[in-house]
Amino acid sequence: MKAARIVEANKPLEIFELEIPDPKENQVIVKVKAVGVCHSDLHLWEGGYDLGDGSFMKVTDRGVKYPVTPGHEIVGSIAKMGIGVTGFSEGDDVLVYPWIGEGTCPACKAGNENLCDSPKSLGVFQDGGYAEQVLVPHFKYLVKVSGIDLEPAASLACSGLTAYTAVKKANMNSPEYLVIIGAGGLGLMGIQIAKAITNAKVICVDLDDKKLDIAKKMGADFVINTNVIGSVTTGSGNAVQKILSICDNKGVDSVIDFVNAPQTAKTGIAILRKRGNLVLVGLFGGSIDLSLVTIPLKAITIQGAYTGNYNDFVELIELAKKGTIKQVISERYSLNQSNDALENLKQRKIIGRAVINP
Ligand code: NAD
Repeated sequence: MKAARIVEANKPLEIFELEIPDPKENQVIVKVKAVGVCHSDLHLWEGGYDLGDGSFMKVTDRGVKYPVTPGHEIVGSIAKMGIGVTGFSEGDDVLVYPWIGEGTCPACKAGNENLCDSPKSLGVFQDGGYAEQVLVPHFKYLVKVSGIDLEPAASLACSGLTAYTAVKKANMNSPEYLVIIGAGGLGLMGIQIAKAITNAKVICVDLDDKKLDIAKKMGADFVINTNVIGSVTTGSGNAVQKILSICDNKGVDSVIDFVNAPQTAKTGIAILRKRGNLVLVGLFGGSIDLSLVTIPLKAITIQGAYTGNYNDFVELIELAKKGTIKQVISERYSLNQSNDALENLKQRKIIGRAVINP
């Protein structure tokens, strides 16, 4: 089978011809119909994360071994099953839960494999879906998906699931106003999920009017382009002032930052009201100085969100089956075009999600 693999950071992905593994006990081979091109694939390709102050966290220091086949938003059909697999048949359309843990750490035991101490996630630490077929280590990571459009469903495994976790965290203080920063693959899912499961008025912030137009279509009540007006600069007309004017200068209750770069995190903190809640999700990276007394005096919460657990994945698929949420798919690529897909995402040319159809 063909697979597009990262051989080295920042070098073009290469097409490999690989043996299709024979599935062992409980394992399943899934024929990939579509795989989402996530910004996290881009970080994996770039070799790591910007920690700020000139520091860089290499993915290879976190356990990634190149060559690796990226792709964790996988939808496909069952091609072959090992002994012991029950409840599935060859040909079933399935979504793959990729956030696999090693199974014995406290997080795994509590059902949060996505927060495992030694993660084995597909498309990061094990080969993923930029391939004609993918080996899923256990059938318990599969969910049948009949009655739902398959390409947009791929995104439920990461952008949908991560946004679902983040919105749940942001909803803990029942926000009247919720700001979503970044109207990309995650942010557009976040808007739809927020409108489906919270009572918040959603304010969406991005650098690009085309993305903000889609954000409005997805349900955002207000949109703000920080490329035009600046993010945290002082004076009237900047994003902070604009957001505060929307909520009668009270400040917003919750912010989800799907970018999480210095300028967006600073904006997020500046617009929070007392008892506000900032959920950091994006991995754009960098670092900021924090005014420490503000945090206790305003009793604000700053928390991270990382993907989501299997139970939330199943809940989210049910929500998608009702037609409430649907990823925007704007571009389709072949495996041979994987480098173009990543390059176009890097240049912010993709609206919603691109998918690769192996
Ligand atoms: P994307 O490229 O599809 O979208 C990013 C969006 O942010 C774009 O619309 C872009 O215009 C906007 N943007 C960029 N810089 C901005 C700025 N300074 N101010 C306002 N808007 C800005 O990316 P995505 O797939 O939605 O992923 C977003 C981030 O979340 C990535 O860093 C990705 O790795 C990360 N991520 C985190 C998790 C997690 O579990 N924490 C899971 C998946 C992805």
